[in-house]
Amino acid sequence: MISPEGSKSLPDRGSRFDESLFSLQAMPKIPRGMLKETQKAVALARKFNDEVVRPQALEIDRQTHADPEYLPWDLVKKANEWGFYTMFIPKLFGGQGFNMPASAYVVEELSSACVGIANVVFVHYLGVAGILASWNVSLANKIFREVVRGQKSGKPSIISLAITEPGAGTDVEENELIDRARLNCHAEKVKGGYIVNGSKIFISMGHVSEWCCLIAYRDLKKASENTVTFAVRTGTKGFTFGKHEDKMGQRACPASELIFEDCFIPDEYVLRDSSIREGFGTRPIADLIEQYIHFVVSVTRPAVGAFGTGVARGAYETALKFAGETEVGGKLLINHEWAQAMLAEMYKNVVIGRLSYTEANYANGLPGGIYNILQRKPVYYYQKYAPKFIFDYLISPLLDLEITQRIFRRLFVDSQSLEVQQRCSGWASLAKIVGTDMGVKNSQMAVELMGQAGLRHERGAEKFLRDSKLLQIYEGTNQLNRINLFNNLIGSSIPQARAFEE
Ligand SMILES: Cc1cc2nc3c(=O)[nH]c(=O)nc-3n(C[C@H](O)[C@H](O)[C@H](O)COP(=O)(O)OP(=O)(O)OC[C@H]3O[C@@H](n4cnc5c(N)ncnc54)[C@H](O)[C@@H]3O)c2cc1C
Repeated sequence: MISPEGSKSLPDRGSRFDESLFSLQAMPKIPRGMLKETQKAVALARKFNDEVVRPQALEIDRQTHADPEYLPWDLVKKANEWGFYTMFIPKLFGGQGFNMPASAYVVEELSSACVGIANVVFVHYLGVAGILASWNVSLANKIFREVVRGQKSGKPSIISLAITEPGAGTDVEENELIDRARLNCHAEKVKGGYIVNGSKIFISMGHVSEWCCLIAYRDLKKASENTVTFAVRTGTKGFTFGKHEDKMGQRACPASELIFEDCFIPDEYVLRDSSIREGFGTRPIADLIEQYIHFVVSVTRPAVGAFGTGVARGAYETALKFAGETEVGGKLLINHEWAQAMLAEMYKNVVIGRLSYTEANYANGLPGGIYNILQRKPVYYYQKYAPKFIFDYLISPLLDLEITQRIFRRLFVDSQSLEVQQRCSGWASLAKIVGTDMGVKNSQMAVELMGQAGLRHERGAEKFLRDSKLLQIYEGTNQLNRINLFNNLIGSSIPQARAFEE
């Protein structure tokens, strides 16, 4: 807390807002090719919406109520056929190599039709982010190339990310809170690997994933220094699934319980543990673990903001259509001024949701941010135009070398300053809060504007409302994200300010 006396000496934060004009700083440096590529990706998402999502979104929602055991295998097959699971995997790892910020616009597009199905397609990239941010490029290469083979063979191989536990949700997303959490997922180091015991809950797409990026802890009481990240294949001995949740919304996308009973995971599937510190100067291991979490959420939280923006847009479009076709009091609803004001407000909400996630992605694109290197013009154009065989046969074997691993970790882990980490993480929280709050707000407004029609399942507005509420909870609740925003963008330069005090 800041005392009234302390506030006299507070630095003038007003003048520092100009630092956050990331778009203006980043735009001149951004390769022009990214725009065309983004348009191509969005066009594909629109086509997918028209041909796959809209014709069955409401029916699948209905089906999951009748049969809570429903799993979206058909949707996964379709998304795999359409290439969505490899679209944002860099060419270095065999993927299509679309620029990563474009993924947010694709997410918005898909969510405008059905956020549950958008998750079936995109939660995979939460797993991709968990693997990528480990900078274990050898293991990343192995798994991502399997995803690519899965697209070619028609046997999807997608990735989930498991961090939440029955007694710990918010706490596990903040290294400053984790030592107070009621953790149960224990990783014991043994010869040749680890033995994992414990469980995870609410893991999106768990049941239908081939790989799980799993976070466990060598010491449950001192997890801030003992986090281990694994890649575990579904079907590994000792790794089973429990129930999946019968939840309020986003019902097309299962939220699974994962159970680990004496599950042996060999060293070759350790993405990162405390050995990451070797060769990395004097940075404490807790800082490196915290940085890993911030790397992941810097990418995934703007994406959740884009999910929210998509819902906001879908709700707005549904309300607009209704207002243009429905007569109230002898004239079309759209010609009532109060309805016009509501529609204007909803339109504005979509735009500010989109601007927020775009700005957060620009923050990730500046030096030290996770997107920066891939967006540098020489790297971008080399990745785009170099023949595939160069990646597959010349560069791929180099990824297994210890030296390559070290170069990647030095480039991304060691070179990122605390200031950059705070900028990216703070803005990721901002984008997440804005987009998801706008999603809920617009869904409520759509229901309100449509009256009883808004409550009918076949009209879609009530589904947007049910789907959007979940977005405010996952990837850290919006309350937690507000504290993270405060911590990283406000409190970090105010000595008197403390977040997460016991
Ligand atoms: C549909 C869905 C899909 C999900 N998918 C995944 C997934 O794929 N992988 C995964 O690992 N997890 C997933 N989750 C879990 C999600 O990340 C957690 O639900 C989220 O982080 C919040 O944790 P919690 O639900 O345990 O809430 P809790 O941590 O129990 O929080 C309860 C309340 O207390 C507040 N609170 C908690 N701690 C603090 C604090 N220190 N200060 C102030 N307020 C606090 C919270 O804001 C909240 O209001 C998913 C959740 C949902 C709903």
